[in-house]
Amino acid sequence: MRIALVHNYTNGSLKVSDKLKALLLNEQFTMVSTDPNIVISVGGDGTLLSAFHRYAHLLDQVRFIGVHTGHLGFYTDWREYNIDELVSSLKNDTGEFIQYPLLDVELVYTDTKKSKHFLALNESTIKQPNGTLVCDVFIKEEHFERFRGDGLCVSTPTGSTGYNKSVGGAVLHPRLEALQLTEMASLNNRIFRTLSSPMIIAPDEWIRLKPVGVDKISLTIDQLVSEENDIDHIRMKIADERIRFARYQHTHFWNRVEDAFIGAKQYDADSMDS
Ligand code: NAP
Repeated sequence: MRIALVHNYTNGSLKVSDKLKALLLNEQFTMVSTDPNIVISVGGDGTLLSAFHRYAHLLDQVRFIGVHTGHLGFYTDWREYNIDELVSSLKNDTGEFIQYPLLDVELVYTDTKKSKHFLALNESTIKQPNGTLVCDVFIKEEHFERFRGDGLCVSTPTGSTGYNKSVGGAVLHPRLEALQLTEMASLNNRIFRTLSSPMIIAPDEWIRLKPVGVDKISLTIDQLVSEENDIDHIRMKIADERIRFARYQHTHFWNRVEDAFIGAKQYDADSMDS
């Protein structure tokens, strides 16, 4: 087993990462930075996103493990207090994993008709750096609507608890193979009209976004931001690739959602009895 460690630079993550590395070396695991088959991120969900992008070219051989040095995260099942248990799970590893869908983003340029591909674990968004984004939305090549507003977000099921949720999208169970399109501040009046609600796209469908009247858009792929010129359209679909997580323990998805967004029960127990 060849293990790569990716961490952020908070004091807590550096401490946990050093401790984990010492435990792994003590158990004769090989620590590598290139060509791993296990990638352990130490930090938050954001650190796991960075680890994913660093090793996205090795998805067919790599399984990811997330250790969270704050609260429990969405990609990060392990905490500092159970890293001994994590090391013993690695020693007894039988190769089990759980896999989740990714978003394939294809940028097609006007001038050269060249294209670029990206994979997103959470989501991709497009905005117009200056002013209102005007963008035709196609579903499976059928024109659906002309959007006007701040921007559009297409998220994966595991990304649905990230930016998607903040712009009013639904939380999707990660076992669902579906993409979600959410609007950011759409302009809706007697003249301009969009659906104005999140849409969940079936696994065999794709979304094509064609910006209108602009030569520059701002594109995000998870935490990565770029300004793109001369874009003809952007095609988004469920990727052929998947991300795989080593599966040694299981946290029920809805418990994780409750823990992250609701926290301690607020209701009065007496009122529940009535
Ligand atoms: P960041 O701005 O440093 O942190 C964004 C926050 O989103 C962090 O608290 C992170 O958790 C959390 N997060 C990341 N993926 C998540 C997921 N799938 N479900 C629930 N929470 C999630 O950005 P970053 O750490 O580089 O991460 C980039 C991601 O942050 C983007 O893909 C986007 O989903 C999200 N984001 C959200 C907003 C928003 O809600 N308004 C704005 C910008 C970015 P940890 O603390 O565990 O790292």
